[in-house]
Amino acid sequence: MYQHKNKIMNNQELRKNGIDGKHKNEGDSRRTFLKKAAAATVTIAGSDLMTFAGENPSDSTIPSNEMPWYRRITRWGQTNITEKDPSTYDISWWRKHWKSTNTQGVIINAGGIVAYYPSKVPLHRQAQFLEGRDLFGDLCRAAREEGMAVFARMDSNRAHEDFYKAHTDWFAIDGSGKPYKAGDLFITCVNSPYYNEHIPSILTEVAQLYNPEGFTDNSWSGLGRDTICYCENCKRSFRSKTGKEIPEAKNWEDSAYREWIIWNYNRRLEIWDLNNQVTRTAGGPDCIWSGMNSGSISGQSRSFRDFKRICNKAEIIMLDSQSRNDSGGFQQNADMGKLIHGLLGWDKLIPESMAMYQAGRPTFRLASKPVPEARMWMVEGIAGGIQPWWHYVGASHEDRRIYHTNGPIFNWHKENEDYLINRKPLATIGVVWSQQNTDFYGRDEAEAIVDMPWRGMIQALVRDRIPYIPVNADHIDREAKNLALLILPATGVMTDDQITSIKRFVKEGGGILATGETSLYNEWGDRMTDFALGDIFGAHITEPVKPNVTPLRKWTNETYHTYLRLTPELRTRVDGPQTGREPMMSGERHQVLKGFDETDILSFGGLLEPVRTDSKAEVLMTYIPPFPIYPPETAWMREPKTDIPGLIINTIPGAGRIAFMPADIDREYGRYNLPDHGNLLANLIRWTSKDNIPLAVEGTGLVNCNLYHQPGRMILHMTNLTSAGTWRQPVDEFIPVGPLKVRIKLPDNVSGSNIRFLVSQKNVSGSVAEGWITFTINSISDHEVVVIS
Ligand SMILES: [Zn+2]
Repeated sequence: MYQHKNKIMNNQELRKNGIDGKHKNEGDSRRTFLKKAAAATVTIAGSDLMTFAGENPSDSTIPSNEMPWYRRITRWGQTNITEKDPSTYDISWWRKHWKSTNTQGVIINAGGIVAYYPSKVPLHRQAQFLEGRDLFGDLCRAAREEGMAVFARMDSNRAHEDFYKAHTDWFAIDGSGKPYKAGDLFITCVNSPYYNEHIPSILTEVAQLYNPEGFTDNSWSGLGRDTICYCENCKRSFRSKTGKEIPEAKNWEDSAYREWIIWNYNRRLEIWDLNNQVTRTAGGPDCIWSGMNSGSISGQSRSFRDFKRICNKAEIIMLDSQSRNDSGGFQQNADMGKLIHGLLGWDKLIPESMAMYQAGRPTFRLASKPVPEARMWMVEGIAGGIQPWWHYVGASHEDRRIYHTNGPIFNWHKENEDYLINRKPLATIGVVWSQQNTDFYGRDEAEAIVDMPWRGMIQALVRDRIPYIPVNADHIDREAKNLALLILPATGVMTDDQITSIKRFVKEGGGILATGETSLYNEWGDRMTDFALGDIFGAHITEPVKPNVTPLRKWTNETYHTYLRLTPELRTRVDGPQTGREPMMSGERHQVLKGFDETDILSFGGLLEPVRTDSKAEVLMTYIPPFPIYPPETAWMREPKTDIPGLIINTIPGAGRIAFMPADIDREYGRYNLPDHGNLLANLIRWTSKDNIPLAVEGTGLVNCNLYHQPGRMILHMTNLTSAGTWRQPVDEFIPVGPLKVRIKLPDNVSGSNIRFLVSQKNVSGSVAEGWITFTINSISDHEVVVIS
């Protein structure tokens, strides 16, 4: 028997504790919290699960124009409860921590694998050390008394042996009938009653007992793509949806396997809808369910989570991307924020779980992450429109330094949040992506085939301080009017509609920079006889398609001793008799080769297939095939010159500028970070966009510049990535950069008369000439946010 009485806040306390969201209407918030506080007063006695009559939020008297909580709460916190915590959880200490960090909402473990409240749902196992305590309920009430929102956290993907034995048919099995396990736990099947009945009954119970604002789930999407479930539920569903049997093995050429992938994606969206229907029915229209998503498209692909379709349904994206990896750097977080906002809209929120513990490489759950490392990940997320969400594992820590990381950035966020949300990017460069490309072009090597070129292209943009936005390939028409250039980094798979959009964009004067095998594959990843964009590129495939051979895919994981020859060559060279080369060519090089006058070759690293070029296309680089590296005596070019194009500039009358690089140096740049590759990409971006870039920043350092606008003002978020730890975590020291001279093109409604630095808290003046404002930032330690109005 459990007894819990919650104190109902009086009006004065409610006013004092009201959420400090900028959209808050105090009177309305007060009513909200009165209602919530009343609903939280629940007596659980024996089998009596009582909620207050009339507390169904659908009876609400709240004006419909009030911003719902998921648009209003911008700072989240999470103490991820371990099973040991219930015996020692010091709620009063945590309440102080919530307050001192200006946290507005908390994510609290409710149920799933284990329950942190006395659940009545059969087989919903109590956390090991819970011993009757209603920890979830106690925390909910504490949060409510602080005027905070509660996201009930679920973890619904596996169960203990007793559960498995009670319902063996709810669990995923391999081809031989053996259950899939993760450690001691058994993995549940997404097509089973576990997801259709068990989880909904937990969601309903939690909503009715505690009335949390909403639900999230750590791991809601079941088995990943690498594992096929052959349970009866799956077999039946797949047969009824496709008329086929579940594929026996992974085989990208098999139509059943391809359909299995699509069927899996669809099932995850059904779960999304079902859970939302359940929580809204039990908790009211704003009691949404939003499962967590990954900060990597290839991660989303492996988990069958279609980001575009999820964002079409989601009111808020809970991003579980806790720390950086060395290859992507901090800048990956801003990139991901912009990419998701491109799907979700810039008016919605994307809180991101940010580890305060040593997460990533390596992971130590109970040790504090170096403060600069944690802070930079947070700052870069905020720069990309992400909201901070601190994350600890366990409710008590002997490494108490962990508690000091979040406060400063959270408090700064509170002071400045008006400038950090509800803003739209000002960028003229769009970088095209699609999850289909990751699925069916990247397949099992998406990291090398799709992620690496993306990373290289993004890094070239960041390094040259060029603002950009990620553009989903299905949104090209929507974004086109604001863009001067679309970049297609190794976008092998493109649909007919996407090709049509690109052609329209070019015809209307837009520039294109494409690399590698862009547009050479259909939506299933089947190689076609030519690039769908061949006429745009001025380049066509010459080799006939060999069945089941996808050469570049085979090559991408390797590095070859290859080069690119710049044409025309500018230097006289001494040629050995065996090469028989003409001594010198004359002429001027194209401006995209600016900066390379002292070399006739650039390192490459990939392989190339011959392509045929159209008459108006100009070949600016040719391929030099591989030759030995070791021993040094053998390191001479066997074939110094070919006519295989590595870089092509095409001219289409009346259209934008086109550059096509069969030589995928974006992939090489993503992998090796060689400055030549970055410089060449930057040259190409500037030329194809006709230098239509609204920002120029002079000064040394690696600085990520993101430019936004709000009505009547611009916001420039600059993150200093210059550090001894830039490419190898952790950063343990900030190395300031500056002075930086900044020039920004002023939109019509921004005069440029006020410039405010939100980090160093200074007002400065700038000079305005010919529609551009110029000012200087003397020094940036970790980041600076400039507001120009
Ligand atoms: Zn199954």
